[in-house]
Amino acid sequence: MPCKICKSQDIMSLHHNSFHANSESSNSNPDVRHIVHSGIGAQIVKCNVCNFMSVEFVHPSVINIIYETPPLSFIPKDVSKQQELHKQNCQNQSLFVKRYMPEVKERALFLGVGRAENAQRYCEIFNEVFSSDLVPQHNKLAGGCSGLRVLPFANIQTPDLFETFNLIILSNIFERVAFPLNLIRLCANLLKQGGRLLLEVPKMSESDVFNSAYGREEINFFSSKSLEKLIEVDGNFKIIKTEESIEPIALRDATCFGLQSKNTDFSNKRSIVRLILENKRHILNTNLVDIEQQDILKHLSTLSFALFVSASGLSRFSELTGETAIDAKYIKNLSLTQLDH
Ligand SMILES: [Zn+2]
Repeated sequence: MPCKICKSQDIMSLHHNSFHANSESSNSNPDVRHIVHSGIGAQIVKCNVCNFMSVEFVHPSVINIIYETPPLSFIPKDVSKQQELHKQNCQNQSLFVKRYMPEVKERALFLGVGRAENAQRYCEIFNEVFSSDLVPQHNKLAGGCSGLRVLPFANIQTPDLFETFNLIILSNIFERVAFPLNLIRLCANLLKQGGRLLLEVPKMSESDVFNSAYGREEINFFSSKSLEKLIEVDGNFKIIKTEESIEPIALRDATCFGLQSKNTDFSNKRSIVRLILENKRHILNTNLVDIEQQDILKHLSTLSFALFVSASGLSRFSELTGETAIDAKYIKNLSLTQLDH
């Protein structure tokens, strides 16, 4: 399959041998052992042209199952520390955005994963603030915040919203969607010409990926190079400002999907990149949905495999006890009532 960012065919699967060969205590294994994602269970691939790394393919419906499913294993008893860290992180983010605001401040959109409540801080600046979260539970929470208009994530593609926003904030979402190029194109359609986009993603190296130093729901791994390539390939945006910062590693899981560390060390940090982009587009691409549908068809050959591995618990988690492995039957039998908890 071609690279999801630059469309190059020069793609390779990451495998354990290449890392062991570089280490001092080389204990080379003649069998190639591919590196699979510790949450999704599918192979991780790397583009040799733009350095973009990602899970080979995950169908958007599988991603929806992850975010619509209540915690399957460990739930921290006290989430107040996480909430405090989220607030601090969002404060740093908004301090950065405020320095590069669009001139007109009529309408803003906050797209997040598990952070929808943080959209409220933009209500002081914009006449109207829309919020949409990949996690339905957080959309419900944001619904209780005064001044916020909450949209289900699936509804942001409606053409009624095209060319209506002055600012869009993409908070920890780019590393979690099946088609990042489509998301940036959607933002170009939603923004008015000259509108601004804040894009925030973790910065991940190959060894971070090898060591599974990512959140369980994170499936795209960007470097500065692949992020710049994404913006270049899309072609609608001009980079106004780039900032590197840090965030607590404890925030990398938006839900308790899969196994979460019981002894979270809140002092550990990781690098993130924030970009402010300006929308330069003049002509709208007409049919966004078709672009995504075409990409899905191209990936169909790997779809059945990825779904099989994920639903059967054949990822690394399957070696763990039944308590922590993903139970496919449990996911299937979930009722709407359970989702409310
Ligand atoms: Zn590429």
